[in-house]
Amino acid sequence: MTEKNQQHAQRMAKKKAVIDKKIAEADKDKGLLLVLTGNGKGKSSSAFGMVARSLGHGMRVGVVQFIKSRTDTGEEAFFSDCENLDWYVTGDGFTWDTQNKEQDIATAKKGWKIAQKMLADSSYDLLVLDELTYLLKYRYLDSDVVLKDIASRPLMQHCVVTGRAAGKSLLELADTVSEVVDVKHAYRDGVRAQKGIDL
Ligand code: ATP
Ligand code: MG
Repeated sequence: MTEKNQQHAQRMAKKKAVIDKKIAEADKDKGLLLVLTGNGKGKSSSAFGMVARSLGHGMRVGVVQFIKSRTDTGEEAFFSDCENLDWYVTGDGFTWDTQNKEQDIATAKKGWKIAQKMLADSSYDLLVLDELTYLLKYRYLDSDVVLKDIASRPLMQHCVVTGRAAGKSLLELADTVSEVVDVKHAYRDGVRAQKGIDL
């Protein structure tokens, strides 16, 4: 072994010891609250990745899609027939499409009732509350109620919340938070939503 190679091996051995120690220290299991926020693309699709992972492990999953009214997405076509999965689309569309605040609030409350049932049901291992942040931002739902319902879910139940502009109290409650940064999006080059990528 050359001297350079030996130095590299020593550095890697040290690094491995540090990493192994950290892995050994992380020995807890817990139902996690994950928040995927930010203006970049990849929040909901990441949540659906965790749905796939969970189903692959034979876990039971619930998905509530707030805001969105479209039922022609690839994820719904693929997942909604899956065993162990309950999928609800509760939105009527974006606020600028519905243009009716009272209706938006009623729809939000109806959607939250579905989520509440799942959050109280320990047979669900993973819940995805897709685009929930908007209902809190626009105050369509009482943030105290929503956070309390999420916080008091079964101990081992994972919950993924997606949507832009997640509020401070939700971020504080979360165990894992990722902010997707909008560096570039093809839409700004005039490319419409592409099947498999955007829907
Ligand atoms: P995805 O569902 O693709 O993971 P997302 O959940 O991060 O996206 P949303 O804000 O829910 O993002 O928007 C969903 C749709 O809007 C997708 O078609 C996505 O490609 C598109 N989109 C997301 N971010 C941007 C952006 N910064 N500019 C333009 N379009 C975007
Ligand atoms: Mg989304």
